[in-house]
Amino acid sequence: MDSQVLRTELARFRCTFFPAAAAQLRTKDLISITRSSSVLKLYFASKLLRFGSLQRTQTSAAAIMAIPMNGGDGLYSYTKNCDIQKFVLDACQVMIEEGIDHKLDIHASAPKAFLVADLGCSVGPNTFTASQNIIQAVNLKYSCKSFTNGESTPHEYHVFFNDHATNDFNTLFTSLPPERQYLAAGVPGSFYTRLFPRDSVHVIHSSYALHWLSEVPSEVININSTAYNKGRIHYRDSGMEVVKAYSAQYAKDMEIFLEARAEEIVGGGLLMLVFPAIPNGTSPSLCTIGILFDLLGSCLMDMAKLSKVSEAKIDSFNLPMHTAFPEEAEKLFTRNESFSMERMEEIPFLNPAKNGTVTSSYYYDHVRAVTEGVIESHFGSEIKDELFEHHYLNKLEEVNHILRSPKSIMLFVLLKRKVVN
Ligand code: SAH
Repeated sequence: MDSQVLRTELARFRCTFFPAAAAQLRTKDLISITRSSSVLKLYFASKLLRFGSLQRTQTSAAAIMAIPMNGGDGLYSYTKNCDIQKFVLDACQVMIEEGIDHKLDIHASAPKAFLVADLGCSVGPNTFTASQNIIQAVNLKYSCKSFTNGESTPHEYHVFFNDHATNDFNTLFTSLPPERQYLAAGVPGSFYTRLFPRDSVHVIHSSYALHWLSEVPSEVININSTAYNKGRIHYRDSGMEVVKAYSAQYAKDMEIFLEARAEEIVGGGLLMLVFPAIPNGTSPSLCTIGILFDLLGSCLMDMAKLSKVSEAKIDSFNLPMHTAFPEEAEKLFTRNESFSMERMEEIPFLNPAKNGTVTSSYYYDHVRAVTEGVIESHFGSEIKDELFEHHYLNKLEEVNHILRSPKSIMLFVLLKRKVVN
């Protein structure tokens, strides 16, 4: 703790515990009392912990890597290419309704404002559907089983849309549904940091975002490391050391994510997470998402062979993305003592294409909407058309038969914030 923080804490402590003597007690006196009293030691130990975690949050915030989806409403915008995510959202709707009906435990009285947050909201429209589903489910629940004080709905809903600050919030807010039943607010920043005041949010939802890590594990771009992922931008076909480095980063990130949400969600409130995963025991090399992104790396390598991209530039770039196994995710979610795991379901990665056939152009649009921005910022905008339109599209055609039988799944996880007495 630096001296300024210590001084502020001491001042707060002085006023809380010794209001009458506040004027007389000096910092020097309190330091000596603290040294001799175990109660005071505990007080300052907890402050140190809190300060430490705040500092950790700030440090990690600086290192966090943002990969926002394509903004606007152009051909390769996220708005026009988010059918896969929409399909997942629809597949989870019943579980969201059931979760709210059976597990949301806020009984005493209707909160003045019922707070909902969607983390990793992107530019819409899926985030609006998700928020609306949640609000409808809450309304339905309390119209059937009113609060203990007889009220049948929360007074007002407030929805917080969170994404990285570089997300296209303008597009998001200009397309807010006009008939919505809630007040809306944007919360910029990484969900690997604290986003909301303590004990304030009733339901936090996040769909198709938690597979993005806070950063690329440093080993995979370190030439001296055994986990150096040379010539690749994804770990799908890499050695065990690389896979382990990604898995370790995921474990670290999930711990930070849950710690932050535990602070923010009220007792009895819910955390609803949906994210891509890979069936237990499946080799990462068969993972559909892995194949899609690894292929992009191999296209970059093809361009390096044609001297269109520097190989060193490829080696210094990896995607901060991890597709977890259900057993891996379950271990991390049940480790956190602030939440109880209420439900975990595997959802098959079905074919969302409208005519029932997954075409390469379908995946092409999706991957381009997701990665174009980051490719541009690392490699420059000159390469992107050739990379996607020539190399990537051709390679997708070659693996189309593999993509027809997807080995990815989605996980729906419902966690309930334990009530602290
Ligand atoms: N939930 C939306 C969008 C999914 S795309 C839907 O289902 O359609 C994933 C989004 O997560 C992107 O907009 C990306 O910027 C965001 N994201 C990834 N990591 C994030 C982080 N650490 N903090 C906040 N948002 C993040």
